[in-house]
Amino acid sequence: MAETRSTCPYCGVGCGVIIEHDGAQIRGVRGDPEHPANFGRLCTKGSTLHLTAAPVAMRQRLREPQWRPARGAAPETIGWDALNERLAARIADVVAQHGPEAVAFYVSGQLLTEDYHAFNKLARGVIGTPHIDSNSRLCMSSAVSAYKKTLGADAPPASYEDVEQADCLFIAGANPAWAHPVLFRRVEAARAARPDMRIVVVDPRRTETAELADLHLAIQPGSDVALLHGMLHACIWEGWLDTEFIEAHTQGFDALKQRVRAMTPAQAARVCGVPEAQILEAARLFARSAATLSLYSMGLNQSTAGTAKNSALINLHLATRQIGRPGTGPFSLTGQPNAMGGREVGGMATLLPGHRDPASAADRAEVARLWGLDASSALPDRPGMTALEIFEAAARGEVRVLWIACTNPAQSLPDQALVRRALARCELVIVQEAYADTATAALADVLLPAASWGEKEGTVTNSERRISRVRAAVPAPGAARADWRIARDLGRALEARLHPARQASVFAAESAEDLWLEHREATRGRDLDITGLSYATLDAAGPQQWPYPEGAAGGTQRLYADGRFATSDGRACFQAVAYAPPDERRDARHPFTLNTGRLRDQWHGMSRTGRLGRLFEHAGRPQVAMHPQDMARRGLADGALVRLRSRRGELVLAVRGDAAQAPSSVFVPMHWGPEFLAGRGADGAPLRGVNALTTRARCPDSQQPELKAAAVAVERAELPWRVVAAGWGVDGAALAALLGAFDYAWRHPVSGPETLGRAGAGVGAQGVAGAASVGEQFEAACAQPAAPALLARLVAALGLDATGTLRYADTRRGRLRLLRLDAAGRIVALLSAGEADAGWLVELWRGAESAAPLGRRLLAPEGGAAPVAPRSPQVCNCLDVRQDRIEAVLRDCAGSAAERLAALQRQLRCGTQCGSCLPALRRLVEATPVELVV
Ligand code: SF4
Repeated sequence: MAETRSTCPYCGVGCGVIIEHDGAQIRGVRGDPEHPANFGRLCTKGSTLHLTAAPVAMRQRLREPQWRPARGAAPETIGWDALNERLAARIADVVAQHGPEAVAFYVSGQLLTEDYHAFNKLARGVIGTPHIDSNSRLCMSSAVSAYKKTLGADAPPASYEDVEQADCLFIAGANPAWAHPVLFRRVEAARAARPDMRIVVVDPRRTETAELADLHLAIQPGSDVALLHGMLHACIWEGWLDTEFIEAHTQGFDALKQRVRAMTPAQAARVCGVPEAQILEAARLFARSAATLSLYSMGLNQSTAGTAKNSALINLHLATRQIGRPGTGPFSLTGQPNAMGGREVGGMATLLPGHRDPASAADRAEVARLWGLDASSALPDRPGMTALEIFEAAARGEVRVLWIACTNPAQSLPDQALVRRALARCELVIVQEAYADTATAALADVLLPAASWGEKEGTVTNSERRISRVRAAVPAPGAARADWRIARDLGRALEARLHPARQASVFAAESAEDLWLEHREATRGRDLDITGLSYATLDAAGPQQWPYPEGAAGGTQRLYADGRFATSDGRACFQAVAYAPPDERRDARHPFTLNTGRLRDQWHGMSRTGRLGRLFEHAGRPQVAMHPQDMARRGLADGALVRLRSRRGELVLAVRGDAAQAPSSVFVPMHWGPEFLAGRGADGAPLRGVNALTTRARCPDSQQPELKAAAVAVERAELPWRVVAAGWGVDGAALAALLGAFDYAWRHPVSGPETLGRAGAGVGAQGVAGAASVGEQFEAACAQPAAPALLARLVAALGLDATGTLRYADTRRGRLRLLRLDAAGRIVALLSAGEADAGWLVELWRGAESAAPLGRRLLAPEGGAAPVAPRSPQVCNCLDVRQDRIEAVLRDCAGSAAERLAALQRQLRCGTQCGSCLPALRRLVEATPVELVV
């Protein structure tokens, strides 16, 4: 078995991984003990990466370039050479007829820096369009905008090591316990090592992160600026500012002081819906702690006030001098693995390489020189359209060719109705993807097969400015190629058509390293200078933080230690931003605020994590979380179907009571898109996942859309006729194709019992055991019984039309139950239609034990208690430890909380592998009383 060091492709923590493989197949993965981001740790997502490369999870990989003869038709395979010529001819034709701006690119924070660079050259250097933007627009653009306005450069000043050195952690709009789990392990360890450390969490929900806090401010959605201004007002009033620092190193404080004058803590308390005393305490902890580090993410960024929220937080850091020292700084956590790299290389509409500005003629000239462009092909002379502007222009018919790489906008962009209109109106939609079955791939004219994690070379930059190598362990499947190479080859073909007189190609690069060296040169003398780095240095010395200029002995851990900022005069700029509520507020017709966010074990649109049944164990049903009081007022029980309706669309989901949720607000995970959750709306229009509801209102500075506050109505959905189905070895694509035919339906894969409960190498059994060990679970509901033809398609997809299928039917009451058993009496596939509760059948199927002891009850009409109890919720994913076993151990276990947790871990080993479940275990320790038998 060979080993290859690489980087996890999921979140911005940027953990190092060691891939175990035989040169052809990835067999295992473990954390890299030498990587400074994780020191060997991985979360549930990272530790199951190898399973996403197992043959059974690779079935839907795109392997050959394909071209659809017509929209909706089956795609036809085409070779790379023919494809490049045909595609170049089509794009050149559009450019000739409509100009270069009729072509746009929508790329991804999951691309590598080298990929980004190739796309940027293709868009700006070959086609001449400024319209290239990234899905990082949905993730980090407010942080970028605020860093530049306040500190002068898009550079997070702190490092992960500052977590260990902080006396106060101020976590705002972030749930790192789920979204950045390995960093959160560091927070937990720092707290354990230094119990005096104080943690303040600002979040409308009581998340697992908030549970660790000394002070949780459960503010009203979108009221962050009021809170931060209220805290600054308190700091001014109490004399907690560092006036010397303000005087010597900043500007604009007087205007800010005027701005916050009216936002007294009492007024902030009214706006935010939290006690004034909490605001005063938060201000005291922030300002008076020896070192305060803030960690923030989407709650601040994804907002119509995104830049204002980020700026207001940085104002606090500057005013109290909680910056430039160990354990201090405003530290934005990137959501994606290479959101930072995309910013560095200028792969966004509002950026050029090396943190340059597309609106600056001098910057454009410099980039043109670096790229070897002659005067006849200067770069576009202005910033391009940002993500949603591109789709709006496409919907108006202005963008005719849209190239989408490594992202799934038909799942992830807000206001899905707009996205569908845009894609339908484009003349040519090109989708560069690893997987053939994403929602966007289904709408493409051209499908370009891309290499994925474990198959490609390059670099990524994590949240703390640390550049890590990404390495290939195995070849990409079929004809799939590295993203940079796809962009380069088409670029060369297009260059010959669009710039026949060009002396030298902008695409001289023959490797990822060649591209990276070009990028490196673009950083020379800039704030992010990496001219002292090379692939060889990264290979020999490991990941490094920028800046790392030529001649430097190493990277730079912390910025602005000398109080000199990246502005023209070296002074940081306070921003006197105004508080404004979210664009959409609750009203009588839409009385709830919808918030979207992450689950612990899923990633984005689930195009990778959604192939692993075990990652659905923690949260297997698409649900909307609602405060129990709101449910009681509406007479809703757990599991009831409700219709969420915003001004843009609707969605049907099961409701779940959750006291962590603030009243009048609901939460839906961001992951559930039309590949997993669909149906028809009340008007018959298709339901398109959570982003059918969200708004494209956006921050005026960053153009980042508001994904945290949409006004919605929640009504009971009267869909009494239910279908439950499941089967081992069933093709998920066949079930996915049926989702939209029901009023409400979801599906996901399920891991076989032999793949659960095994940590480390054992989990590889899923790959070894093959397709038969992977199941599919499906549920649907309708207002009326489904048409026989639709039911017949579902039955066929499950293989329940085979002879030997056991059958119970009550045509008068519209009930049908079908079961297929194997020779050992285990259920292989099942379907229950028209019955009130078939959950016990699914439990029986999942248990994969003989159903023979139930005898005739298997086919008996419904009635009485279910013969099989539902399984308890899973807590520890690595070892498949469930809540009932944990509670049973805890009931017998006395001592302090720490002693009880240790005893629990000794007995069940839960939480001893990746640690992602530790917050949940601590909650169970608190919630489960000891039952001593006297
Ligand atoms: Fe990957 Fe988890 Fe590390 Fe994020 S925290 S980089 S998802 S292993």
